[in-house]
Amino acid sequence: MNGARVSSRGAMPIADRCPGILRLHPAADGMLARVRIPGGRLNPAGAAALADLAALGNGIVEFTARASVQLRGLPAGAAERAEAILAPAGLLPSPTHERVRNIIASPLAGRHEAAHAETDPVVAALDAGLCADPALAELSGRFLFCVDDGSGTLGSVRADVSLVARDDGGFELHLGGRATGRVARAPETAAGLALRAAHAEQPCSPRVAASAPREILGTVRQRDGRLAASALVRLGRLDRATLAALGTLAGRHGTELRLSPRRTVTLVDLAPGDAAGVLAELRALELVTDPASGFAGLSACAGTGACERALADVRAAALARAPARAPGGLPEHFAGCERRCGLPAGAVLSHVATGSGYATERLP
Ligand code: SF4
Repeated sequence: MNGARVSSRGAMPIADRCPGILRLHPAADGMLARVRIPGGRLNPAGAAALADLAALGNGIVEFTARASVQLRGLPAGAAERAEAILAPAGLLPSPTHERVRNIIASPLAGRHEAAHAETDPVVAALDAGLCADPALAELSGRFLFCVDDGSGTLGSVRADVSLVARDDGGFELHLGGRATGRVARAPETAAGLALRAAHAEQPCSPRVAASAPREILGTVRQRDGRLAASALVRLGRLDRATLAALGTLAGRHGTELRLSPRRTVTLVDLAPGDAAGVLAELRALELVTDPASGFAGLSACAGTGACERALADVRAAALARAPARAPGGLPEHFAGCERRCGLPAGAVLSHVATGSGYATERLP
């Protein structure tokens, strides 16, 4: 498990201090709220609610490496307002479990031509089962579930418990990145495998596959002939107006936003005649749709102004680095201190601020 500790009554991790909606984190730029988005599925009402909540703060919205959404610069005591704004949009179905709904999924959720199975029903069953189990409210806020459609579009992840679709349509349970041979086909049964594993398994150090993810930026043809349009949020950060505009765009096309750990946003089920217009609108919102962009695979932590530990303006350094990056190069991450928050899984070129420059090394 990712940093989880073990309780005296067995393998169940003790809850940690990860922020959520009801427990905000004090940062250098004010209080920070982290909103879990199971499966990365964010509907237009949810996007509008998040944009409304961001207006109480400094307007900065962050997409995290776990496909959650962070809102920054909120005032002290904003948790009550956050609950009032987000709950009606369905973003707080369980106050007791809000910080443990860490479920990532493939961005096209089974629609990609290389996918083996749909993931939405599994994510829904997993989320419902998680929230219905009082004991699992004690999971670490860092414990991560993953539902992978087998398409290779998800990229490297450090998941504690994964359900990975096989070419026979079943989902195989993986623990710490290792296949177990336990397979289920029905969504509820697969979710049950994952939930029992969360109860029973000992902590582990997740193994991360080194393979490069299958590209999704731009348009991708779905197995049903419709199209998906995907764009990258530069360094995982946008403003509230952009988030609101993305929600409006999805609503106009009768779809939703799908966030991924790669800080992408995808609109699925587009009519072939609509996809080019959607891509143009994504570009107009300053999102990246070109896989050859230097922003692809480039990330940075919050840095100065947002984190008191930061030794440098790492976001400015990353912005300056982007034009020099070659397409398809190793992912790169800039961090303001040795904690390396937001470091992507898998092979990465790590730049850590030292106070007088950057210490660069290839990991792992
Ligand atoms: S890596 Fe260091 S400077 Fe960056 S957000 Fe984390 S604690 Fe702050």
